[in-house]
Amino acid sequence: MNAAQTISDDDLEPIRETTRALCRRFPDAYWRKVDRAQEYPTEFVTAMAEAGLLAALIPAEYGGSGLPLRAASAILEEVHASGANGAACHAQMYTMGTLLRHGSEAQKRRYLPKIASGELRLQAFGVTEPGAGTDTLSIATTAERRGDTYAVNGQKVWTSRAEHSDLMILLARTAPKGSLPSRTDGLSVFIVDMKAAPKDRMRITPIATMINHATTEIFFDNLEIPADALIGEEHKGFRYILDGMNAERILIAAECIGDCRWFIERATGYAKERKVFGRPIGQNQGIQFPIARNHVELHAARLAVRHAAEMFDRGEPCGPEANMAKMLASEASWRAADTCLQTHGGFGFAEEYDVERKFRETRLYQIAPISTNLILSNVAEKVLGLPRSF
Ligand SMILES: Cc1cc2nc3c(=O)[nH]c(=O)nc-3n(C[C@H](O)[C@H](O)[C@H](O)COP(=O)(O)OP(=O)(O)OC[C@H]3O[C@@H](n4cnc5c(N)ncnc54)[C@H](O)[C@@H]3O)c2cc1C
Repeated sequence: MNAAQTISDDDLEPIRETTRALCRRFPDAYWRKVDRAQEYPTEFVTAMAEAGLLAALIPAEYGGSGLPLRAASAILEEVHASGANGAACHAQMYTMGTLLRHGSEAQKRRYLPKIASGELRLQAFGVTEPGAGTDTLSIATTAERRGDTYAVNGQKVWTSRAEHSDLMILLARTAPKGSLPSRTDGLSVFIVDMKAAPKDRMRITPIATMINHATTEIFFDNLEIPADALIGEEHKGFRYILDGMNAERILIAAECIGDCRWFIERATGYAKERKVFGRPIGQNQGIQFPIARNHVELHAARLAVRHAAEMFDRGEPCGPEANMAKMLASEASWRAADTCLQTHGGFGFAEEYDVERKFRETRLYQIAPISTNLILSNVAEKVLGLPRSF
């Protein structure tokens, strides 16, 4: 990601239109079908990669388009506003940042051009563990140095897209918790070649969920990875992961803005058409006001997302702004989802209207990649200076 790079709304419009045109090839019926079958939307992800949209943030010298985060945000916003779901491929945009910022030149030359061309997928991000949850510094998966290799042992949970990725960014413990002077040291980041991993050493089990997210559990049993899979310095991995969080928050917030637009558009359209008691339901203020409120909330959240993305693109620290944008956008999209379902009455529950699918999908963003409570905790302590609670 290039610091101090800005882009105007006019310059973003062709990128938005390219994304919209691609998404028109994947209408509601496509998403309904993959959702019902819990299938990975391979055709969509391939089309996004072929159009170069997933390589927006990869610098031109490594085969990408070297665009700022605002452009990547616009892409994911349009994907979601079209009724699609970027969760099948959005991780590549932010996980790639860890490699770009902290990887060696050899690692970048080896992987980034192939990721940019779509030849390799970097969609898996192995951080969360069942025993640690949000407390990332307590993860227990270990990577033990043995000569020219590391042996990985442990378990990850919620590693999404693992069965559809060639590479994984993995966070693992390289020193016992509390054994190094700095509280945040002791974890390291690796780029793992998933296709080279023997199945009995890296066992992937899908988790059935309320949304079609291709998420999994991964069990590592003495998986040997080459020592040069280490990204950056040993023990500094937690900071590298934190470094990438602002981009992740802002991109997810942009997806929520897209969802929010979709719900408002669908609710408005249905409210104009559906006639009950001989007039459109949208003539009733009881139907109008919640949709109007959603529009007001969308307006505010959109400004917050834009502000955070612009700060990020100028290379300014934007942790609180990225967090706040993500919280405002995820709450705006969730409230719009509720209004949209209510406006549709019973038909909101029918699969063919897609409202129930998008309703389920947008709910995720108040929990992942960071829950609302954790954002509030961050704002309370880091912005307002309240006492640390954990
Ligand atoms: C569909 C899906 C896909 C995911 N994909 C990935 C992925 O690809 N890679 C990955 O690494 N992870 C992934 N995750 C994991 C996700 O990031 C976590 O679920 C999320 O960070 C919340 O952590 P947790 O589930 O462990 O909740 P927990 O940490 O167990 O927390 C449970 C609840 O308690 C609250 N809570 C916890 N501590 C506090 C506190 N101190 N104060 C107040 N409230 C608190 C939380 O806000 C939360 O609501 C995914 C999750 C889902 C559901």
